[in-house]
Formats: sequence, C-alpha cells, structure tokens
Amino acid sequence: MRALLLFLAQREGIKNFILRFRIFRKTAFRFVAGETLQDALRAVHETNRLGMRASLDLLGENVQSRDHARHATQEVLEMLDAIHAEKADCNISVKLTQLGLDLDREFCYQNLREIVTRAASQGNFVRVDMEGSRYTQPTLDLVFRAREEFENVGAVIQAYLYRSEQDVGRLLEARTRIRLCKGAYLEPESIAFKEKRDTDANFVKLMKLLLDSGIYHGIATHDLAMIGATKRYARERNIDPNRFEFQMLYGVRREVQQRLSRQGYNVRIYIPYGRWWYPYFMRRLAERPANLLFILKTLFRG
Ligand SMILES: Cc1cc2nc3c(=O)[nH]c(=O)nc-3n(C[C@H](O)[C@H](O)[C@H](O)COP(=O)(O)OP(=O)(O)OC[C@H]3O[C@@H](n4cnc5c(N)ncnc54)[C@H](O)[C@@H]3O)c2cc1C
Repeated sequence: MRALLLFLAQREGIKNFILRFRIFRKTAFRFVAGETLQDALRAVHETNRLGMRASLDLLGENVQSRDHARHATQEVLEMLDAIHAEKADCNISVKLTQLGLDLDREFCYQNLREIVTRAASQGNFVRVDMEGSRYTQPTLDLVFRAREEFENVGAVIQAYLYRSEQDVGRLLEARTRIRLCKGAYLEPESIAFKEKRDTDANFVKLMKLLLDSGIYHGIATHDLAMIGATKRYARERNIDPNRFEFQMLYGVRREVQQRLSRQGYNVRIYIPYGRWWYPYFMRRLAERPANLLFILKTLFRG
C-alpha cells in the first residue's frame, strides 16, 4: 500500500482524477494549512499561541521551468518578509527541486542563496528539506556550499538511507544543524532499509550522534518509541532539553505535540501551505494507510 501511494504521488494524471472527489481535498487540509500565505500565517500564530515554534513550507517540487523556480523564490522571500513583519516564531523549509535543481544547479544555488541572504538579514533560518535519493548528493553539495557563506542554513538526514551515518559525520564536521527524520520516499533495498525496525535502530543511532554533538538539531518524528529514546538519552547524558527540539508535521498527532511542549521540550511544527499539495498529501497517506481507509469508507458511504 505504501509503495502504491508513493508511486501515485509522482503521477500527475492520477492527481486530476483524485481531485474530483471532495473528500480527498477535505482530508488533505488536515495536513495542509491552506492555499494562501494568510492561511499559513494563521496556523503559525495558533501554533505559537500554544507555545510551539513553526517552520513554514511553500508546497511545490520538481518545477519544470526557470520562471516557475523564480516565482517560487519570490513567494518564499515574501513569506520571510511576512514572518518578520508579524514577529512570528517561525523559520522556513525549502525544497531544492522547487528552486530549479532539476534545471540547472548553479541557477538553483543562486535562488537558495537569495533566500538564505534575506533570512540572515532578518535573523531567520532556512532548512533545506531532503527529497528522493537521486537528490541526496546534489542537495548536500548545495547545503555545504551555502554553509561556507552562511550560518543560518541546515540540512535534513533520512534514517532509512544506509549512507546517512557518513553524511551526519560530514555535516557535524561542518557544524551544520540537522533535522533527523526517517524518510518519506520510495527507495530500493540497495540503498535503504526496508524494515521499520532497521530504520528505527538507525534513527536512534543517529539521534545519539546529534545530541552528543552540542549543536542544536531537530528530531523529527511522531513515533513515540523514537521520542522516548530521545528523551531517555538526553536525561542519561545530562543534555538540557533546550539543546535540541522535537519537530512534527501539522495535523499529525496534535495531542503528542502539545504534551511534549507542556513537558518543557522545544517543539516545532512543520506547516505546509499552497496550491501544490498533491504529492505532499500522498506521502502523508502512505505513512498511515488508515487515513486512506477513512477516505475510501466515506466514498463508498457517499
Ligand atoms: C518536521 C518533519 C519534517 C520532515 N521532513 C522530511 C524531509 O525533509 N524529507 C523526508 O524524506 N521526510 C521528511 N519528513 C517525513 C519523515 O521522513 C517520515 O516520513 C514521517 O515523519 C513519518 O515517520 P515517523 O517518524 O513519524 O514514524 P512512523 O513509524 O512512520 O510513524 C509513527 C506513528 O506516527 C503516526 N503517524 C506518522 N505519520 C502519520 C501521518 N501521516 N498521519 C497520521 N499519523 C501518522 C502514526 O501513529 C504512526 O504509527 C519529515 C517529518 C517531520 C515530522
């Protein structure tokens, strides 16, 4: 089921069919804050009001023209300005294929550079999301390049990839802030763990490297076992809870988000918005087929 949903996530034709059903749209907006920046800022303020930080993500990936990539860059700059003007406790996340990585790496880097420069002038931070494995190396290359110029840019590491321990080592050498997640794409066994228990074991191993590094990292998971292992390790090693943060997705396990925050942990909510929500939504469905069952039941009842 997971493989099927991740396959469909890459098929635009299926998207047009699926969008005919209102229930898909309705369910998508449990995970997406809305289609406009105003919708997204409302969700950011609500998150801040509950004592949590946010990371805003303008949805969109694999753009096929320079115009689209430039347009996305402009929208991200407007997003940064709005966060600054409204004094929201919120950084941003960007995907390099939205900034033109498929078209021309230098062009993509210049778009990223413009965004990181603006964020730096406003005291803000840019997280570069990690996409499917064909982008792992180019994405890390551009993050390392940005780190030579800027402090306020960080990377994402996916625990399901065999290579991740090595990548963590290199990023820590460059004193780079990391978001650790399990990984959301369909990857072959030749490069990624297939069994949940293996990914989880690697997640815990990498989490320990991150917490020991003394750099401020994000532990991004909704898995109570991973959260518990992180809390325990921090306690054992006397690592202050203020030295790292938990990160979770908008609309996923809200009660866990708020409980962690009430317990005194830093919690950041990743808030996506915009019109291009189809692949993001399909990846969320793939993580929890129960969400799909809910949709199918509603369709059949209807
Ligand atoms: C802040 C943040 C940023 C991320 N950035 C990236 C990135 O840049 N690149 C990337 O590849 N992946 C990214 N991810 C996604 C991540 O890789 C996983 O696919 C996703 O978080 C599910 O893994 P999990 O750790 O929650 O554990 P899982 O073992 O998948 O889930 C644990 C439990 O959490 C709950 N849960 C998990 N997902 C959902 C859902 N969609 N709906 C409802 N319940 C759910 C379920 O109860 C499930 O049993 C990000 C995740 C977070 C939280």
